[in-house]
Amino acid sequence: MVSVAATEPLTEEIHILWTSEGMSCDGDTISVTAASLPSIEDVVLGAIPGLPKVHLHNKVLAYENGDEFMEAFRQAARGELDPFIFVVEGSIPNENINGDGYWTSMGNDPETGEPITLNEWIDRLAPKAWAVVAAGTCATYGGIHAMAGNPTGCMGLADYLGWDFRSAGGLPIVNVPGCPVQPDNFMETLLWVLHQAVGQAPVIPLDDKLRPTWLFGKTVHEGCDRAAYYEQADFAFDYNSPKCQVKIGCWGPVVNCNVTKRGWMDGVGGCPNVGGICIGCTMPGFPDKFMPFMDEPPGASLSTTLLKSYGPFIRTMRSITNRGANREPKWRHNRERLTSGYQP
Ligand code: SF4
Ligand code: SF4
Ligand code: SF4
Repeated sequence: MVSVAATEPLTEEIHILWTSEGMSCDGDTISVTAASLPSIEDVVLGAIPGLPKVHLHNKVLAYENGDEFMEAFRQAARGELDPFIFVVEGSIPNENINGDGYWTSMGNDPETGEPITLNEWIDRLAPKAWAVVAAGTCATYGGIHAMAGNPTGCMGLADYLGWDFRSAGGLPIVNVPGCPVQPDNFMETLLWVLHQAVGQAPVIPLDDKLRPTWLFGKTVHEGCDRAAYYEQADFAFDYNSPKCQVKIGCWGPVVNCNVTKRGWMDGVGGCPNVGGICIGCTMPGFPDKFMPFMDEPPGASLSTTLLKSYGPFIRTMRSITNRGANREPKWRHNRERLTSGYQP
C-alpha cells in the first residue's frame, strides 16, 4: 500500500482539467456520463454538501471550443489557475520516437501556431496539479494502444511521470483503470479526492498499482453471480448458457475488478453476470496477457480439472438435500391427530 503524508485543507473552488488527447477513444468520458454515485451533474452543480465549487473543463462535455476551451489549460500552465485536479484519459505516446512529426497534441501555441503535444501539457500541468488522476486503462497502464507491435511506444501515466511521482498536493497518481472506466468507480474516486482537497477525507488509500484499494481489492470471480456454478464444476460451453464461462474465455478468477459486485450502470450489468467473459480490461497486463480473447485461460484447464474431481459429487449431494429442503415436514396436515411431537 502507498502511504503519503496528510495534506493541508484547500479552497472553496477547484478546477478539473481533463484531457482525453492521449491515445484515446474518449470512451472514459462517455462512460462517466452514466455515473450516479455521484453523477457529474451532482458534482458540478453543487448538489453534494461539503464539496468545493467545481469547474469542469472536458472537451467532450464543454460548451466552449477552440481557444476559449484552451484558455483554462493555458492559465493553469502559467500558474494562474490554482488549485486544479488534472485528469488524463488515453495512453501517453513516446514523442522521443515520433520521427519528423508528433503522435498527439492538444491546441496550438498562440505564438508560433505549432501544435502542443500531450506530453508537453503533461510536463507543464502535472507538477502544478493538486492531484493527478488517470482515467481508464490506457491512461493508467497503456491499455490497447500499448500492446505488442504498436508503433507509438505509448505507455501509462505512471510509466511517463514515474511511479514515485507526487502532485503539488502530495498525492501519488491516482489510477482508476477499466476499458472504459466503470462510471461510479471514477466518480467515487474523484469525490474522495475532492473531499480530501478540502480536508474532509483522509488520504486516499491506494495499492501498489496506485488503484483505490476499496474498488480493486477483490477479483471479478469473488463477486460473480455465476461463481456457484464454477464451484460445482458446471461450465458453459457456449454464450447462451447461464453457467460459469471459464471454459469459454473468462479470466475473472485472476482479475481485480468490482463490476460483478457493483454492476455497470445503476447497479445493472457487470460483464460475467450478464454473459460477457472477463477479458481483464482493468489490469496492467491488458490486453497482451489475456489474448487471444475467448480462448480458455491457460490456468483454467488445471483448476477446472481439479474441480471436476469433486464438483459433480457436491452438485449431486446438494440436489438431494435441495429436494429434501423443498418438502414440508410431515406433521403439517389437517388430520384428527397431532403428529408434531408435542409433549403436553
Ligand atoms: Fe478508450 Fe478503453 Fe482507452 Fe478508455 S481505456 S480511452 S475506453 S480504449
Ligand atoms: Fe468466475 Fe468467470 Fe465463472 Fe464468473 S463466469 S464464476 S468470474 S470464471
Ligand atoms: Fe473489464 Fe473484466 Fe471488469 Fe469486465 S469484469 S470490466 S472485462 S476487468
